Amino acid sequence: MQGTLGVSLRPCTSLLHATLSHKTSSPSLANFGQRVVLACALEGRNRNRYENIRFRIASGHKVWPHGDVERTLGFGVRRPLVVVAARRNMLAELQSIKEEADAAGPLEFDSPLEVILYPDPRLRAKNKFIKVFDDKLQQLVNEMLDVMYKTDGVGLAAPQVGVNVRLMVYNPSGERGSGKEYVLVNPRIVKYGKSRDLFDEGCLSFPVLERGPNQSLTIEAEVERPKSVRIDAQDIKGKKFSINLKDFQARIFQHEYDHLEGILYFDRMTPEVLDTIRPELEKLEKLYEERTGQPSPERISERR
Ligand SMILES: [Zn+2]
Repeated sequence: MQGTLGVSLRPCTSLLHATLSHKTSSPSLANFGQRVVLACALEGRNRNRYENIRFRIASGHKVWPHGDVERTLGFGVRRPLVVVAARRNMLAELQSIKEEADAAGPLEFDSPLEVILYPDPRLRAKNKFIKVFDDKLQQLVNEMLDVMYKTDGVGLAAPQVGVNVRLMVYNPSGERGSGKEYVLVNPRIVKYGKSRDLFDEGCLSFPVLERGPNQSLTIEAEVERPKSVRIDAQDIKGKKFSINLKDFQARIFQHEYDHLEGILYFDRMTPEVLDTIRPELEKLEKLYEERTGQPSPERISERR
């Protein structure tokens, strides 16, 4: 990145830590505009001095007062340095700070994996970022794919097998060997399409308990979602990539992504649609209570 003085500059994580800890009176990080200007020296030898610099964040370009930089960094000559970081880069840096703070520990799971059912509280628990891309992660992915194909699913998120990490697998064809298999680690949505549509969704964590003839395996009902999304994610080796998804793929992805956020598909149903599946959800709550001897952690009857 080029500073306004023609000096080659780049942002760094420590800079952002310092920015956050300084609780600047300037517009908050949440509100920064198209461009964020952080003024400080970013040469390697000065990095550990950032903590002493009063950072300013503003929308638009801003030049750091010469005196401050000179005094803080102890430069003998006037050497103001300005960093203009694009908003996207800043968001990426903030994301990496968040990920470090919410990093998962070593993966732990029992084989074979089992799909947990609503209202198991692990479906609502916080899901951590995966930072270690090892054989254990590969094993978890392999077993999740096995479970997904075995249960006739097209997608599965790690919390659905009781592992609270940000990982999902899916294959729109639902059959091993056909279609394309996706493994998305630490995915996030960077853009939603404007148009939306309705679709009958089911979920492996919501089986129909007493199926009548011709009834589907899972509780199905209509959910409205954007028809397309752009996502950033990492692959099984940790390599970052971006993809655009639309239609059925975007639908599957958003359903699984919701699981990573602790959101369940019925949370997104209109009250009228939700009414059509209330009895089935109550059956699952009752089954949970019978199996665990614990009261259901959530009750659909308390929700409008
Ligand atoms: Zn689901």
